[in-house]
Amino acid sequence: MDGVRGHALLLPFPAQGHINPLMQLAKILIANHFVVTFVNTDFIEKRLNNKSSEYMSFQSFPDGLPPEHGRTLKLPELCESLQKHGPFHVENIVEKIMQSLRVPPLTIIVADGVFSFTQQIADKFGVPRVAFWTTSACGFSAYYYMPLLIEQGYIPLKDDSGSCKNDVISCIPEMEALRVKDLPSFLTVTDAEDYMFQYLLREAQNTHQASLVLLNTFQELEGPVLRDLNAKFGNKVLSIGPLLLSSACYGDLIADTKSSIWNEETSCLEWLDKQQESSVIYVCFGSIAVLSDEELVEFAWGLEASNQTFLWVIRPDLVRGSSAVLPGEFLERTKERGFFVAWAPQIKVLSHPSVGGFLTHSGWNSTIESISYGVPMISSPFFAEQPTNRRFVDDVWKVGYEMRENVLREEVEALVRKLMNLGEEQGREMRFRLKILKERAVASVKVGGASYKNMQDFLRQMQMKMKIGN
Ligand code: UDP
Repeated sequence: MDGVRGHALLLPFPAQGHINPLMQLAKILIANHFVVTFVNTDFIEKRLNNKSSEYMSFQSFPDGLPPEHGRTLKLPELCESLQKHGPFHVENIVEKIMQSLRVPPLTIIVADGVFSFTQQIADKFGVPRVAFWTTSACGFSAYYYMPLLIEQGYIPLKDDSGSCKNDVISCIPEMEALRVKDLPSFLTVTDAEDYMFQYLLREAQNTHQASLVLLNTFQELEGPVLRDLNAKFGNKVLSIGPLLLSSACYGDLIADTKSSIWNEETSCLEWLDKQQESSVIYVCFGSIAVLSDEELVEFAWGLEASNQTFLWVIRPDLVRGSSAVLPGEFLERTKERGFFVAWAPQIKVLSHPSVGGFLTHSGWNSTIESISYGVPMISSPFFAEQPTNRRFVDDVWKVGYEMRENVLREEVEALVRKLMNLGEEQGREMRFRLKILKERAVASVKVGGASYKNMQDFLRQMQMKMKIGN
């Protein structure tokens, strides 16, 4: 292991949208001569089944839940169990690495932003902790400003009536466009003791203890919010994204490493090859969102009425309490222009020339992937900070249209028609803005770009810490 600059432990929250960006970071670290230990829960690792190599080893620990537990489908229980069991197991893993003569000692712990329990472990072993929030900067900012939102009486909500949902929030710097309904869903509850409300409140504030904060975004997209966060965090916040673009610079470096917890159905790429340029709308609601039967049916008939060719990801667990069943008549009527998969190779889909639009739940990875490939969106958020992303997609970056909370087939139809109509003026402007943003995203991760500089800064600091330690 000649020339190794350091050893990083990477610890994502056990969900697809957290594993992907940390895996992309792992690739960049390895390319820059760091050894990586990637730590998953046993549940995730069993599905990935990755083999350790000289530069990347995989370790896992039990999340404390029985095999049949829904995990991300019961998020508060998963978070609570990880808070309870994570510290003991992660400390054990760190201790074993520090005692091992076969691998270099850890020089850094890069843990998910919602795992601040790692601070105590990092302190005990004299290793810096970096908090990686896998959210947008605007999403993180909403969590960070919870104390102010509480003080100003916006949250918790006074009642469930929804009467305040359009109230404009004016107290979060650089987020003037926000309405109460655009706040992350964990914040818009009526009970101040709600588990996720308290969890996010605590985790966001604990971020102050970290040596650095990483965000998978870029200066040219979220500059004002990043500047404000940096003022609050003493310039410790580094935007290093889009990581999918920077990691792509290193080709097939860890090609045999799996990060997808579902099997990718590549048949859709061959189908896309046969479609016309920009003619397909890609429909996908990420890895966690769950629809009601009614919502599924509204999306389906909206797509049917739009007359548009579509590729739709229907996970087996997409519909609440049962497996997704689409109406037979809908399937019959769309058989010439609809293609369904249980899980798509999303990055390849979004970068395919046949894809002209994305009907998305606005998870942060999906959003930044769409921006990175210049694909305009229809934003139909479900939970977490997806509503905040929707607001920025629609109102600030103007790279997509927002869909209202209640899914209605008429709205689905109208928005799909509008988004996919290449001659429509608003859409043309949107595509032009996306072309510029895409160029800026690429430039940001290349030598001289802001994300590139931040990444180099991060790598230098990791190495420096190692030298001090030695
Ligand atoms: N993804 C994928 N194939 C699919 C659906 C999703 O590869 O069929 C990936 C997608 O590219 C993204 C991640 O899964 O990187 C989902 O993360 P996101 O933050 O968008 O949403 P979440 O699943 O966390 O709600």
